[in-house]
Amino acid sequence: MTMESPALYVVPTPLGNLADLTRRAEEVLRAVPWIAAEDTRHSGPLLKQLGAPGRLLPAHQHNEHEAAQRIIDKLQAGESVALISDAGTPGISDPGARVVAAVRAAGGRVVPLPGPCAATTALSASGLGDEHFLFYGFLPSKAGQRRQAIESLRATPAALVFYEAPHRVLDTVGDLAELLGERTLVIARELTKLFESIHSGPLAEALDWLKADSNRQRGEFVLIVSGAPAGGDDSEGERVLKLLLADGLPVKQAAKLAAAISGASKNALYDLALALRKS
Ligand code: SAM
Repeated sequence: MTMESPALYVVPTPLGNLADLTRRAEEVLRAVPWIAAEDTRHSGPLLKQLGAPGRLLPAHQHNEHEAAQRIIDKLQAGESVALISDAGTPGISDPGARVVAAVRAAGGRVVPLPGPCAATTALSASGLGDEHFLFYGFLPSKAGQRRQAIESLRATPAALVFYEAPHRVLDTVGDLAELLGERTLVIARELTKLFESIHSGPLAEALDWLKADSNRQRGEFVLIVSGAPAGGDDSEGERVLKLLLADGLPVKQAAKLAAAISGASKNALYDLALALRKS
């Protein structure tokens, strides 16, 4: 491959299945003199297998500023750099965004390559993201902050895409079910790997489904929740609900009235009322 002017190539790498590395990604990785990697030890075997002769630069979340400067220096010296993360697309819940921003700010050329990304891979099999989707990435690990973040997404009509780790998947799915009410949840696990599984079902039943088999809680997860149901104003429903609860109405009656007034889902408001009473 010929490289005209020097550039920072943003190169997605496989999520698990090595055959998912694109031909263009291979060409770039073999052609560039420098490869900036999230974890040079992790990426070493892949680069060795490709016979990529480029020298490695560390570019992880703790040195992004310094890494960006080194990369800008290389570009200004006329040398191209490929940016890779441990898996998937750099800058998507991975280091890379700050490097890219700094290179652009310095007037450098950034060339993105399409390729593996867990969010889009899961979306393509979910049947939920045809109109709009909102990529959230990782929710906060602390329960209070996580619940607050979920609350803030409650009225979003787009499908919600989350990344999650195995040790938090039960807590997160539990909170999603409690706070978002009647929705569909797609649990995409170990995509492109040996134990890939894609489960779709009611959000309210997801926690039981996960608990029914501990293998279902293993590996890497993308969680996709269908968007807020159309036809009702959820934020109005929530506002009315809070007023009624503050006035001392029982949960069930408050949810019923708030749904009738706002047009929002009665069940979702009921779940929300329970969560509000609990907290
Ligand atoms: N940059 C990556 C991308 O483009 O998807 C994401 C990196 S982020 C640090 C890692 C998270 O991505 C995991 O915790 C999981 O939520 C998701 N993920 C990565 N690989 C996955 C896979 N094979 N199956 C399901 N989710 C995956």
